[in-house]
Amino acid sequence: MTRLYEREARSISKLAHLRFYPLAVTGGAGATLIADDGRRLLDFAASWGAASLGHSDPRIREAVDRALSSQAGASYLSGASLATVQLAEELLSLVPARAAGRIWFGHSGSDANETVARMVIAATGRPRIISFSGAYHGGTTGSAAVSGHPSQTLPKAPGLTLVPYPDSYADGEEAAEKALARLDSLLAGPVPPQEVAAFFIEPIQSDGGMLVPPAGFFAEIERRCRKHAILLVSDEVKVGLGRTGQLHAFAHHGIEPDIVVFGKGLGGGLPISAVAGPEAVMNFASAFSFQTLHGNPVCAAAALAVLEAIRTDGLAENAARVGAHLLSRLQALKQRHALIGDVRGQGLAIGIELVTDRATRSPAKRQTAMTVYRAFEYGLVMFYVGVKSNVIELTPPLTLTREEADLGIQMLDMALADVEAGKVDPSLPGAFAGW
Ligand SMILES: *Cc1c(COP(=O)(O)O)cnc(C)c1O
Repeated sequence: MTRLYEREARSISKLAHLRFYPLAVTGGAGATLIADDGRRLLDFAASWGAASLGHSDPRIREAVDRALSSQAGASYLSGASLATVQLAEELLSLVPARAAGRIWFGHSGSDANETVARMVIAATGRPRIISFSGAYHGGTTGSAAVSGHPSQTLPKAPGLTLVPYPDSYADGEEAAEKALARLDSLLAGPVPPQEVAAFFIEPIQSDGGMLVPPAGFFAEIERRCRKHAILLVSDEVKVGLGRTGQLHAFAHHGIEPDIVVFGKGLGGGLPISAVAGPEAVMNFASAFSFQTLHGNPVCAAAALAVLEAIRTDGLAENAARVGAHLLSRLQALKQRHALIGDVRGQGLAIGIELVTDRATRSPAKRQTAMTVYRAFEYGLVMFYVGVKSNVIELTPPLTLTREEADLGIQMLDMALADVEAGKVDPSLPGAFAGW
C-alpha cells in the first residue's frame, strides 16, 4: 500500500469507495496513469469510461482554459450561458428526431436518470416505469429506485417493474424469447401498459455483466413501447458516445429511443450529463429538477471538446477497430485459460466472464477479484462487474492504440496464468470487497 493510499484512508470516508486493489494515482497521460509509487499503469477502465479521451487530453485542457479565461457565469439556472447552449445544439444534432426536442443538463448519470424517472411520470400522468433486473441507472435515491442491480439496497420506486435482461451465455438461443415472454405476461396482467410512462434500457447491460443483447431483441422492446405509447429511454451513460463503435449504442439495434441519457464520457473527466427528449416532455414544467452548477459552462466546454474529438479523430471507428482486435486476442486467450467462460462486447465495451467450470458456468467470483488484483500488480487497471461479480470489464479510453491493447492482453494473460497456477494467494483481495 502506498503512502497516498494510507493518507486517503485517514482522510476520506469509505462511503463512496468501490475498490478492487490499492490504486493511488498522482497523474496521467493518454491511457497511462502514474501511480503514487512511480509505476506507470495501463488504464483499461478509464474511470469506468469517464476518461473517454484518456488523461490530460490537450483539447480538453485548451477548452477548459478558454472557458475559464472569460467565464460565462457558473450556472445556467438563472441565465443562458454560451457554451451550454452550444453543447445543447450540438447534442440535438446528434440524437434521432424523436429525441431532438430539448436538452436538460446535470452532473452525472445518476441525477440525469433520476430526473428522467421523475419527469416521465409527472409529464405523462402514468405511474409506472419498467427497467431490467441487473440494470444500474445510478446511485442517488431516485435513480437507484428505477435500477435493478443487486448491489443496491435503496428502496425501489412504488411503480417499478423489473424484467429479465437476456443473457445469451446463460440461456443460449432462448435468452431473448424468455425475457420477452416474461415482459408480455406482465403487460397482459399485473402491469397494464397504459399505466407505464417509460421503459429504461441499457443497450449493453454493463454493470449487470457486460451483457450484449441478441440481435432483434430491442426492436421487439421498441415495438411494444410504440404500441402502448411508452417512452423508450436509452441509458447511454457508460456505453454511448462512440464506445461501442457507433456514436450511439442503441444504433446497433436500429431503434430510435424517445429519450437519450448521456453521462460519464461526455465530459471526458469533468462532471456533466445530458438528457435529450421530446419538447412536450422536456418542457412540461420549469424549476422541476436543478442543481446550481448543472450544465456549467466549464464542463460544457469540456464536453464540446470531447464531441469534437470523437468526430474529427474518428474515435467511434477507432473503438470499433481496436475493440475488434481486443476481442479476437481475448478469444485466443480463452483457448488457453479454462477460467474464461465467455468473451463478449462491442467496440471498447468488453466483458470477460470467469467461471470455475465451463460446463456449469458457475461464477468464479474469487478468481475474478484475484485476477484484477494480480493484473494491477503487473501494471494493468481494470475492474469487474456483474450480478455475480465475475465479469472483468474493459472500458479503456476511446483513443486506445493496438499496441496498448496488446500490452494489456499480455498482462491479463500473465495474471490469469498466475491465478490458475495457484500462484496468487486467495486472501490477496482481502479488504477490497469490490461489489
Ligand atoms: C455509471 C452509470 C450511471 C450513473 O452514472 P454516475 O456518473 O455514477 O452518476 C447510470 N447509468 C449507467 C448505465 C452507468 O453505467
